[in-house]
Amino acid sequence: MSASVKDKVLLERNPSSGYSGIEEHSGPWHSFLEYSTCLVFPVLFGLNVHWATSRLYELELLWLVALAIPLGAVGGDLVSGVVHWAADTYCSEKTPVVGPSLVKPFRMHHIYPRDICRHNLVETVGNVCILAVPVLGLCLYLMWIMPQSGWLAFTVVCVALVTVATVATNQFHKWAHQEHPSTVARWLQRTRLVLEPAHHQLHHTEPFNKHYCITNGWLNPLLNKIQFFRRLEATLTFVGIETAKAKDKRLSRTTTAE
Ligand SMILES: [Zn+2]
Ligand SMILES: [Zn+2]
Repeated sequence: MSASVKDKVLLERNPSSGYSGIEEHSGPWHSFLEYSTCLVFPVLFGLNVHWATSRLYELELLWLVALAIPLGAVGGDLVSGVVHWAADTYCSEKTPVVGPSLVKPFRMHHIYPRDICRHNLVETVGNVCILAVPVLGLCLYLMWIMPQSGWLAFTVVCVALVTVATVATNQFHKWAHQEHPSTVARWLQRTRLVLEPAHHQLHHTEPFNKHYCITNGWLNPLLNKIQFFRRLEATLTFVGIETAKAKDKRLSRTTTAE
């Protein structure tokens, strides 16, 4: 049986359960990056927060941490929404680099939303750790060359909190699809500190173009109200970047005309 036929058989195994039946694993190099950055991320996060808060303490600005915590939670939600919207709306599974690592998982997730529940912790958060580690490395470097700046220290605390919220996003997303999440996860969902399942289900409901934020979902009502993503799409169309749907339509019209 060829790989594609085998995949098709597996895809059809559980069409209504939310599970594809496909066991997909990262390649060895990607897997190495996922595991290594999952180990490095908490170390860099701890160093950034420790050094930045120590500096704020010396400058008697430690109270700014109280401001950084909600900013980090909202910032993480915004990053999750923008990345999710971009992966749902642009490019294809065949686009180099982002196609297999970002676009494909999100598109497959819409067909088989429960596949995410089968991922272990590293498979769940590893992709984001790969992106978060260089950001935290840059923050450490900036604090090293500008040791006296209070505003840099405040910015680093905010950025570090955004990265931790973003890294945790797929875990919160996974909980939102689990049939039996843990007691702690259920409490966090009830208190709306993390993505609540009924709220997230609105994204998995027609027309599938709302509620992109999946860390805690706090920004979804506001972004829906101001039509943030539709306006962003209109702006990008204006500068010549078309959505995947618009591109497919244009190509099918060209094929029909020929
Ligand atoms: Zn989506
Ligand atoms: Zn989902």
